[in-house]
Amino acid sequence: MSGSQYTSWGRYPQVNQRGVQLAWRTDSLPEITDEHANVLPWGNGRSYGDVCLNRGGLVIGTRALCHLLAFDPDTGIVRIEAGVTLAELLQLVVPAGWFLPVTPGTAFVTAGGALANDVHGKNHHLEGTFGCHVRAFELLRSDGSRLHCSPTENADYFAATIGGMGLTGLVTWVEIQLRPIPGPMLREESIRYANVDEFFRLSDGSDDDFEYTVSWVDCLASGDEAGRGLFSRANHVDAQHEDSTDLVLEPRLSMPFTPPFSLVNNLSLRAFNKLWYARQRKRRVQKNTHFSGFFYPLDAIGNWNRMYGPRGMLQYQCVLPGEAGRDAIGEMLARITRSGQGSFLAVLKVFGDKASPGMLSFPRPGVTLALDFPNRPDVFRLLDQLDAVTLEAGGAVYPAKDARMKAEVFRAGFPRWQEFANYIDPNFSSSFWRRVADDGPGMTAMDRRTDGDD
Ligand SMILES: Cc1cc2nc3c(=O)[nH]c(=O)nc-3n(C[C@H](O)[C@H](O)[C@H](O)COP(=O)(O)OP(=O)(O)OC[C@H]3O[C@@H](n4cnc5c(N)ncnc54)[C@H](O)[C@@H]3O)c2cc1C
Repeated sequence: MSGSQYTSWGRYPQVNQRGVQLAWRTDSLPEITDEHANVLPWGNGRSYGDVCLNRGGLVIGTRALCHLLAFDPDTGIVRIEAGVTLAELLQLVVPAGWFLPVTPGTAFVTAGGALANDVHGKNHHLEGTFGCHVRAFELLRSDGSRLHCSPTENADYFAATIGGMGLTGLVTWVEIQLRPIPGPMLREESIRYANVDEFFRLSDGSDDDFEYTVSWVDCLASGDEAGRGLFSRANHVDAQHEDSTDLVLEPRLSMPFTPPFSLVNNLSLRAFNKLWYARQRKRRVQKNTHFSGFFYPLDAIGNWNRMYGPRGMLQYQCVLPGEAGRDAIGEMLARITRSGQGSFLAVLKVFGDKASPGMLSFPRPGVTLALDFPNRPDVFRLLDQLDAVTLEAGGAVYPAKDARMKAEVFRAGFPRWQEFANYIDPNFSSSFWRRVADDGPGMTAMDRRTDGDD
């Protein structure tokens, strides 16, 4: 398989790496050769930056590990191979009355990728992360050993691998506990809010009664309109849905090619944000929504990342803890507005206090902000400034979305990184890890580049 098929979702950085597919979960890992110094598992490339990249090394595609191994429709316990996507799993379990306990904003991630980044969703305030619902998995190490990991068996590898960014070995299968649902529909409420203080009031007032809460914030609005947005909250509901084709989670439209320049620019962003906010005239709107539209609106457009042109995009997601974090979010939004480099996918959400099981899990109590930026030379300076605000507030930047944070930012946000390093498989590495944690001889000048001129 050629390396060009193994890119990340942000399409930055573009790296030269080779890829092979693991055909069966009983296969052994490829040998380390002179051609490649190390390997890294690759799920479906829905990470934005370089956690799924391995410049100069080998990535091991896992999509052929696509089998259902066991499903008990009475208990909702399911065991799947690591290359099964959440979309594939949902098609099987939703008709049986079960749903993912935690889902990210795209269903096109694999079970192995969801585990390795310990992903979070709109119900973090109640259910914590994906890893909180993992009962067990198998970890294949490069010495050929296969570790059965659970909270009680090889518990240290369990904690290191959940959120371990593929560095501890290759996960071959995952067993998770699903949650029951009355059907595929949700009752959703969308509420306009005027500023960040109102966002926090809505969030605090919704956490007990709504399983899902999230908000879109207009990061380009300034003056009196600064921090305005739409707050969305929802619960599963037993309601009719006529169109069974919705269960096929596939893009309906697709961006057929990469335009020579980014279609996302100041003009289109301003127009989009204004229209998006104005599209809801009433303060509060309620409706029944199919889960695919509620959780995965972007999945309806295939290859939407191509809109950002050949230079790709960068996503920034941070979490800022405590009261200080609430103040700092306002400052961060003000900086972004002043820079004029907005995003149409600006998301605000308050995480709850359910502990994540992984040593390097990103979610923690606090408020999280996520935004996309076209890759322009000036964006790197802005993102460094946002890092400074994050560090000052005692927060962290999400590795799954990152392509450029400096080592000191990662190390401050993930204080267990040295303890974690003891569990890394000696033959595994990634561009991300060499950039933020590995000062050794394996680190190349290209790994260190964070200036956007890759
Ligand atoms: C539109 C969109 C919305 C998103 N929304 C969210 C969100 O709401 N919340 C959130 O947390 N994230 C979100 N993400 C990020 C995404 O959920 C994560 O990056 C996820 O880990 C990607 O999974 P993947 O299968 O594509 O894995 P990849 O991106 O290919 O790999 C991710 C990591 O997993 C490792 N890995 C993959 N398979 C295995 C395996 N079998 N064994 C061991 N390690 C493995 C890789 O080495 C890599 O370090 C979003 C991404 C997109 C594109």
